[in-house]
Amino acid sequence: MTPILPGSTLGVLGSGQLGRMFAIAARRMGYRVHTFSPDSDTPTGQVADVEVVRPYEDLDAVREFSRNVSVVTFEFENVPAATAQAAADCTLVRPNGAVLHTTQHRLREKTFLSTHGFPTTPFRAVRSLEDLRTAVQELKLPAVLKTASFGYDGKGQSTVRTPAEAEAALGKDPAVERIYEAFVDFDREVSVVAARGVDGAFAHWGVIENTHNNHILDLSISPADVPLNVAKEAVRIARGILEALDVIGVLCVEYFLTRSGKLLVNELAPRPHNSGHLTIDAHVTSQFEQQLRAVCGLPLGSTRQHSPAAMANLLGDLWRDGEPDWAAACANDETKLHLYGKAEARPGRKMGHLTCLAPTPAQAAQTAVAARKTLLRR
Ligand code: AMP
Repeated sequence: MTPILPGSTLGVLGSGQLGRMFAIAARRMGYRVHTFSPDSDTPTGQVADVEVVRPYEDLDAVREFSRNVSVVTFEFENVPAATAQAAADCTLVRPNGAVLHTTQHRLREKTFLSTHGFPTTPFRAVRSLEDLRTAVQELKLPAVLKTASFGYDGKGQSTVRTPAEAEAALGKDPAVERIYEAFVDFDREVSVVAARGVDGAFAHWGVIENTHNNHILDLSISPADVPLNVAKEAVRIARGILEALDVIGVLCVEYFLTRSGKLLVNELAPRPHNSGHLTIDAHVTSQFEQQLRAVCGLPLGSTRQHSPAAMANLLGDLWRDGEPDWAAACANDETKLHLYGKAEARPGRKMGHLTCLAPTPAQAAQTAVAARKTLLRR
């Protein structure tokens, strides 16, 4: 099949920072970008050629949008299935809608993983109080109870330690579909961001170590300090998942690494991922350029790493005492500042990130944390 070449127009469903960084990569390579979401003056819209502001449920608008682009991709996986289908009726959609359907629902995702033999923590579907009681008996406590849909950054999620806590976590509506997961006493969390091309070519950026704060990614360090056999296994599992889902594009696999050195898949994101932002500054080809190459049917680029790196997220909380001190963060000449163009800095909102390069991953992490601290005006 002939690739979609520079000069063509690419469509992005969703308009956040992931779409923005994709659009920057696309425009650098001479593509035009259209974005579709319910919001205006968005991180993606600010750098796109065209920003369509319509609800995802407006399928006529989705069709019109799709007819004007050579391929539609996503930066947000909670796009309704009907929206992805309407786009697919009019143009290429990559990754395909089935990938979205599987990964936007925690129960479908974990069921897919376990039926294909990928390791996960034991889980049960909970659709009633009775289901919950059975799950507590079978999988024991502590556990994590999560809503099956629309959860991210720890939203719709509670850790429960007693039967009473578990029942209270169902709240007013026990019929909301949930997943009950055995609690993983993990040593650390790691991710593999990987890409698969139209021809089945596979690329990855190795294993990245992630730490969270209030369930939101705080710091990513690359490469992760894990034994070689663990790194190889994490990449092998990721490759298997991209192949089983027939992904064309980028997908991130988030893992727990248990204290006994076992990898368990926690979550999939069928798009570039926050933990892969450091690939912009630390690798020959970033996750965003790779997404573009994959969805356009171009050969994948090298993922060779120039330097160990760490990425620190900049949340809205940093604006508490006024505009952060950007000049101070730029004082370290191996620090790169990325801001997403969001007007309103709310606590917990991802406003930007810093990437620091250093001779070792530990030094990069230290520099990133220190650079972020200098942003706060005292
Ligand atoms: P998630 O939204 O599923 O990515 O979960 C957000 C964070 O909650 C994860 O990064 C973990 O730190 C924690 N978490 C989620 N599921 C579990 C689990 N089954 N056991 C222990 N911690 C969990």
